Amino acid sequence: MSCCRRNICREKNNNCSFNICFTMMDIKHVKMLVGALLILVCIKPGLFAAPVSPTFKAAFVSIDITPDEPKMLLGYAARKSEGIHDRIYHKIVVLDDGISRFFLVSTDICVLSPSEYDHVASLLKKKLGIDPQQFWWSVTHTHSAPEVGVPGLPESFMKERYEHAVDVQYTTFVEQTLIQGIEEAIGKLEPVRLGVGWGFSQANINRRTWGENKKAAFGMNPDGAVDRKIGLLRLEKADGSTLALLANYAIHGTVLGPGNLKISGDVTGTVAEYVEKKTGAPLVFINGAAGNLAPVYSVYPNPSAGHLDQFNVLLGDRIIEASKNIHDVLDSIRFYTGEVIVKTPRKSGMTEWPSYLKKYTSVSGDGKTNYVNLPIRFFRINNTIAVWSAPLELFCEISNSIRDQSPFPYTFYFGYTNGWLGYLPTAKAWENGGYEVHTVSPYTISAEKDLKDHVLTYLLSDAFLNNKTGDMNRKKKTKK
Ligand SMILES: [Zn+2]
Repeated sequence: MSCCRRNICREKNNNCSFNICFTMMDIKHVKMLVGALLILVCIKPGLFAAPVSPTFKAAFVSIDITPDEPKMLLGYAARKSEGIHDRIYHKIVVLDDGISRFFLVSTDICVLSPSEYDHVASLLKKKLGIDPQQFWWSVTHTHSAPEVGVPGLPESFMKERYEHAVDVQYTTFVEQTLIQGIEEAIGKLEPVRLGVGWGFSQANINRRTWGENKKAAFGMNPDGAVDRKIGLLRLEKADGSTLALLANYAIHGTVLGPGNLKISGDVTGTVAEYVEKKTGAPLVFINGAAGNLAPVYSVYPNPSAGHLDQFNVLLGDRIIEASKNIHDVLDSIRFYTGEVIVKTPRKSGMTEWPSYLKKYTSVSGDGKTNYVNLPIRFFRINNTIAVWSAPLELFCEISNSIRDQSPFPYTFYFGYTNGWLGYLPTAKAWENGGYEVHTVSPYTISAEKDLKDHVLTYLLSDAFLNNKTGDMNRKKKTKK
């Protein structure tokens, strides 16, 4: 048993394990201490030449889901595609730590109803025995890709946009290719090492601006909050080549505006294609808290007007540069998953939610308060990396603050994951209002606090840090 496993996985009867009691005041110090300990104990720099762990395996599969025919595009007003600018994909990663598996899919589409996620999760459970908690489906938020499935919550915000029928044929194609891709990936698992690091890119900018009237509108706000960190995970094969690179960065898929009718992965699709061409390594892009973050060139009628290829330098080269500078490599992997449902008050005066979303809303015992039941997922790799995800367009200040207070050396936020339940702005954003607060959010001013409290409590909980949730998951282990 390696030193890493003894110290970090905190198995029972392990005299190396340490219990941590936190107060919010202590978090920064604990984070520094835990970070230092973990880096000393668990991460061995420069291990790319060392043999890979025989128990940690991964696989990557990419499936082209570009439609052959014109499709209704999602993002902006309803419009039909005319031609293709660049192709769109499911990017599928499977991780296997020798005990259980984790399935991550990133698809080049705009948003998904959480009921569509639930439907595919149930198909995967039935067909392959995959526990839904171990299947995360993220979308890149390109505004130039087809609609998939039922509208979901947007139907409550803008009913008139969804007067056309659901495209059942394309939806089935997207679902079936995802399941086939996962099956294919399971058959391709191979030993790997995992590198983790940070990059930095100024390809995004805060998009909420206001004049003297203080009313928020879309624009570019150089003084506004941003998140310019790129969270990087690199899966390296036994021969040293890269199986796949995962880049987590917050940016709206809106370089192309409503005038564009060509299918495209937008900025994230273009950058993925560029990185793959330049390095030979597939790039899986996972969006972050982009609720208030636009690309620096935004909403143009075509790719050249939108300087789309300049993002290859602004973001693509930054991802490549950061991937070369990954020094933290995990040679022994254990991972754990968890979930918390955050119940937070629902904005009053909202129209009825579609019946297929009933699991995502509830009412207080006295019948006076409606709630949004917001599913937050967690994924921990050793005690080095914590990923939390939400079906949200989150304001970046919230995930920045959680990252700052997390005890893990690497805390990533995956946005637009497992569905879409609207924008979740900061409490402060209510002062300036605007689209994200008044038009497309089902939340109240207390949502920021509710979300932060729950996520931080979970990240710092004994259950999460000491595998208790992991052990529970293991009992109903994914079929192998
Ligand atoms: Zn958006």
